[in-house]
Amino acid sequence: MDWIDVSVPIREGMPTYPGDPPVHIALASSIADGANANVSRLEMSSHTGTHVDAPAHFIPAGPGVDALPLDALIGPAYVVDARSLRGPIDAAALHRLGIPDGETRLIFRTRNSDLWERSAFSADFIGLDGAAAATLVGRGVRLVGIDYLSIAPEGAPEPTHVELLAAGIVILEGLDLRSVPPGPYELVCLPLRVVGADGAPARAALRAR
Ligand SMILES: [Zn+2]
Repeated sequence: MDWIDVSVPIREGMPTYPGDPPVHIALASSIADGANANVSRLEMSSHTGTHVDAPAHFIPAGPGVDALPLDALIGPAYVVDARSLRGPIDAAALHRLGIPDGETRLIFRTRNSDLWERSAFSADFIGLDGAAAATLVGRGVRLVGIDYLSIAPEGAPEPTHVELLAAGIVILEGLDLRSVPPGPYELVCLPLRVVGADGAPARAALRAR
């Protein structure tokens, strides 16, 4: 089976979370201008496109993205079909989604994926509320992913992020799951090893198992 690249292409003008620095990519030296090589300067938020949140994102003095264990980021994952939901994924909705026991990397495929077809940031995304996050902590989940720029519902980022990050759960945001049917997969997700950072862009790929 082939790997499916579920990362969002990083480019100038791509949708970013409101208030975060926009993406700028430009040649710092260029062959066309007489340099012997092309070298680009990348300017972006640590939460650009497909990225991982580290505890330091919401927890003062929490571990940075470089301290996240690779074995949480690589391994069996389950893509949960949450496309029928119109509102936040709360504890009751989570229960109805019928997530198989024993899955420790959960990736929520929601209507959000379609928002990548828009050129600007969209506020009408859905996320997990704090109670749903607490339920996942209780299940022993190690990684939670979603297909837009926040794991939490619009306007209420704190309870969900704090619940998951305080428990050491890796948050994977900004996935593009448009071409991923729900079900069991292998996940490879490798965030950049930025020392002490609150998050970092990541390449992420899924392969059916
Ligand atoms: Zn983030």
